[in-house]
Amino acid sequence: MVRDAGVVGAGGAGFPTYRKLDARVEHLIANGAECEPLLQKDRECMCREPDTFFRGLATMRQVTGARRVTVAIKHKNADLADRMSRGAQEAGCEFFVYQDVYPAGDEYVLVYEITGRQIPPGGLPLHVGCVVDNVETIVNVGKAIAGTPVTEKYVTITGAVRQPLTTVVPIGTSFQDCLRAAGGCTVDNPTLLVSGVMMGSVTRDMTAPVAKTTAGLIALPSDHYLVRRKTATRETYTRIGHGQCDQCSFCTELCPRYILGYPVEPHRVMRTLLMTGEAKERGSLWAQYCCECNVCSLIACPESLDPKNICVDAKALLRANGLSRTPDELQQLFRPAHPVRHGREIPIKTLYQRLGLTPYDRHAPFVERDWHPQEVQVPLHTHVGQPARPIVGVGDTVAAGDRIADVDPDQLGCPVHASISGRVKSVSSTHIEITTRK
Ligand code: SF4
Ligand code: SF4
Repeated sequence: MVRDAGVVGAGGAGFPTYRKLDARVEHLIANGAECEPLLQKDRECMCREPDTFFRGLATMRQVTGARRVTVAIKHKNADLADRMSRGAQEAGCEFFVYQDVYPAGDEYVLVYEITGRQIPPGGLPLHVGCVVDNVETIVNVGKAIAGTPVTEKYVTITGAVRQPLTTVVPIGTSFQDCLRAAGGCTVDNPTLLVSGVMMGSVTRDMTAPVAKTTAGLIALPSDHYLVRRKTATRETYTRIGHGQCDQCSFCTELCPRYILGYPVEPHRVMRTLLMTGEAKERGSLWAQYCCECNVCSLIACPESLDPKNICVDAKALLRANGLSRTPDELQQLFRPAHPVRHGREIPIKTLYQRLGLTPYDRHAPFVERDWHPQEVQVPLHTHVGQPARPIVGVGDTVAAGDRIADVDPDQLGCPVHASISGRVKSVSSTHIEITTRK
């Protein structure tokens, strides 16, 4: 039922949820820690649909056989533990309240904080007896077992907009329709950070659609520091990094994966900019387990260099050459978590100041809206695995909730459903466009 309803990781990963549930585990963790600053869609989702959330959680517990269930939230949302205490008691789960730091929602961090177990390098929570799922994904599981497919998405729309808000939109709604719902932008020619200021992507394409994995839209002036950093070309960040890195190693000392014990050392990866051949390949191995959180580039480096993107490029080199740490190396390099780890996590207020986001630190309350977009472009490949294959043609009439694209049963992936009723206007390998216009 979870597969048929098209449930995938709604926190951004897009991993098909049915596959995660195909396991017996000891511990189920509902991730409501909302890693990315400025977003609050997870909070609003839990507040608005607590019964569905606990129904989904109970199902997942039953399927996985989990003995312990924990709901992880940030300190700023600690009131949720009281507001949802009755449901939590009935579901036999406990709340875990973490500091307002970045990256609190990283599953490696949560699993360690809650269970004391370190996920093996490059491994999954499953390898230490855990399943971690985003709270909106769990709400979607609750809906799936009631027969309702995924056709809507919780999103926070904030930044340089008149009225920041969190709302639920039909999947495939255009970014410009979302911005209109927030009263429009307060700057000309904004740039959008999609799904987060730290790990999100950048676009100026306002016709792009909301996907099952879109957590939010943050509009910023196109000359904002973050936009300039995130749109720097490879040629630029490589050339500057090559000439300017003084090997202070702040990037490594603040790296969330390094301080959790993993062999990730971005300052060593920066050295590879001066290397070729085998030396470059060996140095690139220090990037292998980088989670691309951007702490090194956007917070740690005093020179505003870009070790994160140098790590991304180093990982591409490793993949292209089939290189990896050996088990012996890992045994030697994988350590216990750093004793002063908590002193090196990034407080969210500090992050706002460093990144020029303090003016955008505004409440984005839930606003109920009756969405009737005239057109939606439903994406077919926002999940991990095989892209969904269209099963409707141009001119077909569809109703909201109808299956419009499918994935072969033996393949990893999920079907896709119409998010509005209307006529199929176009079909491509990436999208199905549905219109209400005649
Ligand atoms: S992006 Fe930087 S800080 Fe984050 S895990 Fe990778 S190397 Fe570490
Ligand atoms: S923090 Fe910046 S300057 Fe220092 S080692 Fe890392 S990339 Fe180089």
